[in-house]
Amino acid sequence: MKVLRSIQELRKILAEERRDGRSIEFVPTMGAFHEGHLALMHAARRAGGVRVVSIFVNPLQFGPSEDFDTYPRDLEADLEMAEGEEVDLVFAPLAAEMYPQGKPQTRVEVGRLGEILEGEHRPGHFAGVATVCAKLFNVVGPDRVYLGCKDAQQVAVLRQMVRDLNLPVELVQFPTVREDDGLAMSSRNRRLTPDDRKAAASLFRALQAAEAEARSGQTSTAGLVAAARDMLEKQPAVRVQYLEVVHPQTFEPVDRVPPEALLVIAAHVGSVRLIDNIIVGTA
Ligand code: AMP
Repeated sequence: MKVLRSIQELRKILAEERRDGRSIEFVPTMGAFHEGHLALMHAARRAGGVRVVSIFVNPLQFGPSEDFDTYPRDLEADLEMAEGEEVDLVFAPLAAEMYPQGKPQTRVEVGRLGEILEGEHRPGHFAGVATVCAKLFNVVGPDRVYLGCKDAQQVAVLRQMVRDLNLPVELVQFPTVREDDGLAMSSRNRRLTPDDRKAAASLFRALQAAEAEARSGQTSTAGLVAAARDMLEKQPAVRVQYLEVVHPQTFEPVDRVPPEALLVIAAHVGSVRLIDNIIVGTA
């Protein structure tokens, strides 16, 4: 496994691989790996081709009062885990390599999909995500990009960008990997105190309560949200930011539950902000 910090070097190696007829399978990440990241690397491995993982905590997608400085970073452990997944190339650029002139003048504008829910609570977040992904896709030139459904709105924003800008990549999405008690794996989980870690499991229990309600025939979104809220009210450590049933492509709120509709949640547990989602719309 090679670890590269330079765009030029990465491009050179990948150009050779491409000339040899190998496909490029790419997993973009911010590091602090857990089983969710490894599942994406594993999927990339099954496709054959060259496996490339990027590790870059992208300053552009963090707001001024967000957790850029405290976001977990552990390159050494990450490299060991990537090696275990037989990753070929890790691209771990410094910010100066990605943004040599500081914040770039040119950004990808993501429109309404990037301004609601996560976008409303994290202004500029999705423009930052889309911009860094556009740059990474240009540098890596992947055939396929592997993404996790935990960040469902992010997947939708990137799908829209790929479509709108005719980017020649296929996006492949994978289900959320969870801890034994259901908590969605996240790099941020390691910042939860032991008590908050226990309370955080209630997010998934709430999503499951709504899903059970949907399976028993509830078609009103208010009914589903109420079932989830009941579960969370018992948890004083959990402060919900949004909890909504949304359309699976537009992420607009819906009154009646369409097929594949998602229940999405963002909540602070102690000082850590977590997100999760579950499909509540039955086909
Ligand atoms: P991050 O390092 O948090 O930017 O995540 C990198 C990629 O891993 C994104 O596509 C995420 O959606 C995905 N990911 C993060 N957590 C999980 C999880 N628990 N299960 C599956 N994929 C995940």
